[in-house]
Amino acid sequence: MFKRVLIANRGEIALRIMRACHEMDIETVAIYSTEDRYSPHVKLATESICIGPGKPSDSYLNIPSIINAAILTKAEAIHPGYGFLSENEEFVDLVNRCGLIFIGPSKKSIGLMGNKSRARQLMLENDIPVVPGSEGSIEDIGELKAICRDVGYPVILKASSGGGGRGMRIVYREEDLEREFLNSKSESNTCFGDDRIYVEKYIVNPRHIEVQILADSYGNVIHLGERDCSIQRRHQKVLEEAPSPRLNRSLREELGRISIKIARLAEYTNAGTVEFIIDEDGSYYFLEMNTRLQVEHTITEMVTGVDIVKEQIRIANDMKLSYRQEDICFEGHSIQCRINGEDIFNNFLPSTGELKNIHIPGGLNVRFDSYIGNGCYISPYYDSMIGKLIVKGENRLEAIKKMRVALEELSIDGIDTNIELHYGILHDFDFVKGNYSTSFLEQKLSGEFKDFYLEMENHYGTES
Ligand code: ADP
Repeated sequence: MFKRVLIANRGEIALRIMRACHEMDIETVAIYSTEDRYSPHVKLATESICIGPGKPSDSYLNIPSIINAAILTKAEAIHPGYGFLSENEEFVDLVNRCGLIFIGPSKKSIGLMGNKSRARQLMLENDIPVVPGSEGSIEDIGELKAICRDVGYPVILKASSGGGGRGMRIVYREEDLEREFLNSKSESNTCFGDDRIYVEKYIVNPRHIEVQILADSYGNVIHLGERDCSIQRRHQKVLEEAPSPRLNRSLREELGRISIKIARLAEYTNAGTVEFIIDEDGSYYFLEMNTRLQVEHTITEMVTGVDIVKEQIRIANDMKLSYRQEDICFEGHSIQCRINGEDIFNNFLPSTGELKNIHIPGGLNVRFDSYIGNGCYISPYYDSMIGKLIVKGENRLEAIKKMRVALEELSIDGIDTNIELHYGILHDFDFVKGNYSTSFLEQKLSGEFKDFYLEMENHYGTES
């Protein structure tokens, strides 16, 4: 087993990975930017090394600095966490060429799945349903128009190298197509340095369901069930639950089986996630495969008892999976609320500053993955997610009630947060019935959400 692992990340996920390493008697190296010098991941690691100033491109995305840090501190392997360099082929290649181990899939699998239009093509060749649309990326507006007429409007334009919902455009009418195509190309070029675009039919009111996969280098592939990530804002996940209240047994088994097939097609090793979109009539379509640990891996851990990060480390160390498919038992229901520093009453503007009066909820099956504490400074340089509140109940209703109580107890002063938004969701009748789609939040925010706010104001007062 590795003696020392460098964690190429910050915030809650750096701590999450560190805990797994220390439990496995592996020493850890934390990297940090000057902006993060007082962060807990810096204090809790075996050794810490500063790799540059606050701006991500100068530190957490600075490949030479990170690799040098690993060599200097004698780390044998690098865990990338999520975001930053976790899906960067060039990084994986350099890590390997420097004689280090990347805790994640191979460069080849990352490349294959990172190009989303190529991944779509692979699915088409193997009879796996994808949302109707283009076969690969499209260059020609005439060709694009023909495809859109064929699949029917609305359509969604997507960046081939995209992520985080950027470069996406929903188009309702042909007269808007050319303009949006050019907008999408230019946004995609700015964000990803790649202006290739592909198109899919825009599925109205779908569910976003994803399946967690684990694969070792001996050809063993298992799935750990699904997560429902349909509560989104601007195509970004806000709240997740496992299992999905939308799936019946046969659809659940089908998605698990297909996900294993996809992992095998990609010659995948380590932890990965296959994302699907489910139509109102129950048809499913492959959306993409994320070749990294997900923010929401936690709820899968809660219902299976499998420590996904420990499995990642074992797999990277050339060990076999600790579980066979038949060993995986699902128990109870888990929900995660992403706690963000943002002003939900002012267009979700990021909120930064020094935290105070923090109170973290606890109790049976209540988990808070975070890095915050009193005096901690939330920097504008990084992601607005400051923590993840996770609960597990014996069933869905108990999980909902547990989350409501935990949210009431959670208190963070000094910045604005979205705690009240979650409180609103957890009290919404449609949500409680399990009756929601990816449009749920936008709909609630635009109209009915007034009731949400009233409910929140009654509970919290207008101060917040
Ligand atoms: P990204 O990698 O940028 O996050 P995804 O392809 O994973 O992009 O899509 C993110 C979200 O966008 C999905 O969860 C879903 O809500 C929405 N979406 C993507 N494709 C479609 C589609 N064809 N129809 C309807 N919604 C879609």
